[in-house]
This record gives sequence, C-alpha cells and structure tokens, in this order.
Amino acid sequence: MSKKLCEKIWRNGEFINWEDATVHICTHAIHYGSSVFEGIRCYDLGGRSGVFRLKDHVRRLFDSAKIYRMEIRFSQEEVVNACLEAVRVNKFKACYLRPIAYRDFGPMGVNPLKNPVSVDVITWDWGKYLGEEALEKGVEMQISSWQRNATNTTPSIAKCAANYASGALIKMEAISNGFSEGIGLDVSGNLSEGSGENIFMVRDGVVQTPGISHSILSGITRDTVIKLARELNIPMLERTISRAELYTADEVFACGTAAEITPVRAIDHITIGAGARGPVTTRIQKAYLDLVTGKLEDKWGFISRV
Ligand code: PMP
Repeated sequence: MSKKLCEKIWRNGEFINWEDATVHICTHAIHYGSSVFEGIRCYDLGGRSGVFRLKDHVRRLFDSAKIYRMEIRFSQEEVVNACLEAVRVNKFKACYLRPIAYRDFGPMGVNPLKNPVSVDVITWDWGKYLGEEALEKGVEMQISSWQRNATNTTPSIAKCAANYASGALIKMEAISNGFSEGIGLDVSGNLSEGSGENIFMVRDGVVQTPGISHSILSGITRDTVIKLARELNIPMLERTISRAELYTADEVFACGTAAEITPVRAIDHITIGAGARGPVTTRIQKAYLDLVTGKLEDKWGFISRV
C-alpha cells in the first residue's frame, strides 16, 4: 500500500482520518469516470501559507459539476473554507490540494442522475511535477499519436476524471518513449494541450497559445500567464497553432498548477530555439513564481491566506 499522504481528509462537511477515507467498489465514479476535481497549490509565503487562485479553482469545480448535472450540496464559499481548513488541519506549509466531487454509491448503471454527489478535499506534499531540474533546464516532449477528444465529445473545459483516460494514454506513450510529457493535437491536427498542462509558444517575441475551442482545459495558470504577459508588456495572441509551428518556435513552455512554468527544450527530438529556457519563458516563469510565493504584488487578490 502506498504511504499516507495526509492525516485528515474533508468529506461532506467533516474531517475523517486518512484510513477511513475509502469508497465502496460500487461507487459510480469508479465504473463510469463520473467525478470532477481540481488541482490547487498552496505555497509557503515565508512563515505564512497562501493558496493560489483558490476561488477560481472552486468556481471551475462548480462549472465542471454543472456541465455534468451534478448538484454539489455545499456553496462555493463552503468548499473554499474546507480547502483552507484542510491545509490547517494537516499542518502543511506548502502542499497540493485536490477537491473532488463524485457520483457516489447508488443505482448501478450509466445514468448518474440518482446517485448522490459526495465532495472530498485531499491534501498532500507534491514537489516538482516534471522533475526537479525541469523548471530550469526544460523537458523533452513528444507529439502524441493520441488526439484530444473533440469538444462535442467529453468537453475539455470540464475537469472530469473521464478526460484523464485520454491524458493517461498520452502520458504513458510519452514516458514509454523516453519523453517527460506528451502533447495532444485536437481533431483538426492543431495544437491542443499536454496531458496535464497548457502549451504556449513564443515566436518573434509574441507569446501564443490555442484558444478554448481547441479541446483544452481553460487552465488557471494559462490565464495567469496571459495576465502576466500583459503586465510585462509582452504581446500575446490566442490562435490556432499548427504542429509544425511548434518545431520552428523560438521558445515553447508548458504551464499548469502542478507543472508551474516548465520550459520545453525539444519536441519529437527537434530542438526548440536554443534548446534551453528562453528569455521570454524566463521572464514569465520568474513573474509567476514571484506572484505565487508572495514576492510580487498580488494586485488581483489571487492569494488566499491560510
Ligand atoms: N490541461 C490539463 C489536461 C490539465 O490537467 C491541467 C492541470 N489541471 C491543465 C491543463 C492546467 O490547468 P491549471 O493551470 O488550471 O492547473
């Protein structure tokens, strides 16, 4: 059995012990992928802790639930407070938070409408998602042979467990081939996203990323990057990006709550730019890490203090 990740887990309004936070094999979500969840980071601000964009993550959780007709029996504010309390109760300074709403045990069969919706908040210590050196040296990725689902299949803007079947195929293929991560194309063969990150490219000083209709999760880090680019006076475009444009970009980086801002030094063994963290990526990465750790003025009120 894997080791314990935290002492207490918030479940449906109360804290329970790690050992008791089990689910029945007949839980709907296990059979049909019917859960929606979030991934959030809490940072050590130097003494105090702060959760980055907590309200935005909880809002996205509720949006995902709405798409799947799941009624969460708590308010967004209650889930926000549960997250803050989970960090406190488990005595973390910095950690990863995973609120998850799932169709629980009820009628068997595909139709989830009569299955109760449970909500848990899990916390754990999660280091650098793509490895310790990734933020500085960058990683090598591959274009996956698996495409992302079309937006009229399982919608990518809902952070639903079912979407991660696609993510796992992309990730396993990349790892088996010796890469850190795989990049999915959309159904038209244009850039979509990584298995757990949004992808940006830089060419001639312009930062570019695909729009929401390219089968991507509307990443909160992606949104932060767009806002920071504006602050730093770096031109920014949301547009359709073809596969080949990635190879000829000056810089490519991946971003996500877990991956933060990770430079991509090669794709399909083709070196991107100078094959190292580029100047624009460096500026954005620094601004991002300064913002989340409280070193840059939080003019948007993104940090919720624990
Ligand atoms: N795309 C996918 C498929 C993801 O799983 C994630 C991580 N949640 C992201 C993008 C990045 O989203 P965020 O910045 O909100 O963490």
